[in-house]
Amino acid sequence: MQDDTRVLAGECTIRDGTEPSGRRGDVVVVSKPDGTVLVHDAEGYQPVAWLTRAETVTFVDGVLTATDGGQFLRVEVHETYGNDSYPTAPAGMPVGDCPDCGGRLVRDDGTVTCLDCRTAYGFPRDATILTEAADCDCGCPRMRVRRGRAFEVCLDRDCESLGEAVCGAFDREWDCPACNGDLRVLRRGGLLAGCEHYPDCDTGWGIPVGTVVDDCDCGLPVFETPNGNRCLDSGCSEADAEPAQQP
Ligand SMILES: [Zn+2]
Ligand SMILES: [Zn+2]
Ligand SMILES: [Zn+2]
Ligand SMILES: [Zn+2]
Repeated sequence: MQDDTRVLAGECTIRDGTEPSGRRGDVVVVSKPDGTVLVHDAEGYQPVAWLTRAETVTFVDGVLTATDGGQFLRVEVHETYGNDSYPTAPAGMPVGDCPDCGGRLVRDDGTVTCLDCRTAYGFPRDATILTEAADCDCGCPRMRVRRGRAFEVCLDRDCESLGEAVCGAFDREWDCPACNGDLRVLRRGGLLAGCEHYPDCDTGWGIPVGTVVDDCDCGLPVFETPNGNRCLDSGCSEADAEPAQQP
């Protein structure tokens, strides 16, 4: 997928499923790299016609055609006022400068992306990206993530690993309630606290988003999470905290 957005202005006829006979006027057509096509006329924020994330978009002989399943949008350009493509990128909050090229880093829900070289760093959705004053020595922004306690690590996993930090803090810290073995911190997609005697003992739970604030009567830690306090064991009956959903 290319990152350019086509912007086309002209006198056009627009046809789609709702107006097959077509509307004609001076419009601006925006065709985004994800296949979304918007046709704007002179008024309002809403396009007069659009197709979101179309499967195919072609522009041949002055006709832009977007199709998606049984839906279509066709724009015939009779007179062109302007037609060009421009680079576009996710618009996010600026969070610092790229350690590789000095370009501006911006964040959206789960990714920090350099606007120049397009280097991207994924981060957990619950992470807080720290201000530039807290940048890592490597030049990358750092994030704060709660996994038992608050950890501050570099966004670049090759520089600092959240898993290793959590492991260093909590590996063998808690006892398995089933066999009294140590709970190891394991990476299985997310972070797990799992019994060292696996597969003989398959006790284990995902480490919740939150910080340890107490000990449960069952011996495991209690986490303060965005959904209330809960035992590491999501099914623990000893937990006297308010019922909490899995984050
Ligand atoms: Zn860069
Ligand atoms: Zn770093
Ligand atoms: Zn065990
Ligand atoms: Zn418990």
